[in-house]
Formats: sequence, C-alpha cells, structure tokens
Amino acid sequence: MNAASLPSPSGIYLFWNGALVVPAGSSGPPALLPLPAERAAELLARWGGASDDVFEAPSLDQGPPIHAALLSAEGAGGALLPPGWEALPVRGALASGCPGPAPDDADTLRMLRAFHLAVWRGESRFCGACGAPNKDSLSEYARVCTACGRLEFPRISPAVIILITNERDQILLAHNKSFAGGIYSLIAGFCEAGETAESAARREIREEAGLEVEELRYVRSQPWPFPNSLMLGFRAKCPRGEPRPDGVELDDARWFSRDALPSLPGASSIARALIGEWLASPQPQK
Ligand SMILES: [Zn+2]
Repeated sequence: MNAASLPSPSGIYLFWNGALVVPAGSSGPPALLPLPAERAAELLARWGGASDDVFEAPSLDQGPPIHAALLSAEGAGGALLPPGWEALPVRGALASGCPGPAPDDADTLRMLRAFHLAVWRGESRFCGACGAPNKDSLSEYARVCTACGRLEFPRISPAVIILITNERDQILLAHNKSFAGGIYSLIAGFCEAGETAESAARREIREEAGLEVEELRYVRSQPWPFPNSLMLGFRAKCPRGEPRPDGVELDDARWFSRDALPSLPGASSIARALIGEWLASPQPQK
C-alpha cells in the first residue's frame, strides 16, 4: 500500500535497524510515538523504495488502525539516516535505566505491536514450506502462500520471568553476561516445545540458579518483540537456599534486600514492574 493512498493514518511508525525513527533533538524521556503522516511520507520519499512498504494492521485497543513500515537497511544510499532524524533503539528505550512509560501503557503497546509486525512482515516474505512468495491474507492478519496456501501468523514465543522471594524478605536478582553494565534482573527464559509456562519457570530457576521454588503463581505479561517474545511474569517463593549461578548465562545471582538493590532494568520492562509491585507490598511481619 502506498503511503499516499492510506486512509488518513493518525501516524506512521517507521522502523529502521531495530530502532524507531523519531525527529532529532527531542529532549526528555523518549517518545515512542508514530510520526505524523506528512513527516513520515517526507522521510519515506527521501529514503526511496520503501513507500510501498507502509502496512496497515488492526489495533487491539479499539483505537485507529496501526500504520508502520520497516525502512530497508540500504535505503537512502547508505547506512545513516538523513539529517534531522534519529533512530531510537526500541529495546534499549524500554530496558535501559532511563525513565519511561509503564509496561502496560497503551501507546507503548501500540508501538510494540507495530514493531513486532514490521519485523515479522520483513521475515515472512516467502513460504516456509515451499519457498513461494507470500501475500497478505484477506480474511485474517496473516500471510498466505501464493502457491500452496499455507498460512503464516505472526510468531509469538512465550517466555517466563519470575520474581522469587525468600523468608528474609529478599528477592533473587541475577546478572546475565549479556546485560549492559551492572544491571541485575529477574530469572527469565523461553518456554520449550511441549512445556507449560509453569514448568518452564521451575526449569529456568533450577538451571540458572540451582534453586527449587514453591507457590508459583502467574502475575502479569508484557509483549517483548525482541524478536518475538511474550513475557509471562510469575512470582514464587524459595524459603531458603543460596543461588548457584550457572556460569553460562548468569555470572552472578544473589538475594537482595529492599534497601540494597543493585541497578535495575528500565521502568518500561516487566522485570521492573514485578520488582516495583514487590517493593510496594507490605513487608512480612517478622
Ligand atoms: Zn507454500
């Protein structure tokens, strides 16, 4: 669909190289919003070759449809955005220590949906079974193979993240080797094929920290499209025991008290939301 033919989109998200394109020079917390349609059209025209890539997807919040495009890496004849624009890494904006919207903020969820679909569309151009080109399905939000008719839906990979408390009113936080700086977060990992979310949570805790937990219960979720996760947040109790980090993914895992927490993930992450809810809960009576 050409940008000019869109039914008056309220805004267009442009993504490039894992980042949301925003006007340069904006100050304060990052604005994870679509560009006004005219500004997006201007950049698309300068970029060249990508204007046909603006797609429309139904919103899930009864708001207007979502419009977005993934700018090609080689657009504009080089690897850099033209002057006046900057690329805000989507994951970094949510996971870094800077202030940001809550994980269930409606604007953030719209942007994450746009980002997830934009990346998926870029990776689903051809049928995974027979290799023929896919096209958009007219009946549901999916792609359909032009040769064999195979449907491909946006891929969503469930993952679990668990806030674990002990009898000393401490939580388990771990440092993953891939984390920037000294940031500590909760135990997390992907669900395997044929595994319940609860089993995945227990397995990840066992594998990464060498602990067994009880009273495991689901709390909340967050789309985390890096590349396509849905984070399922749990709480669990581990009355006693010392973590033994696996040394593979985690190089440190420790119990932390409320008044001595290390650097934590950003305010827009489910990890921070789970920790915030624990901090807001009353301390157990000794
Ligand atoms: Zn096919």
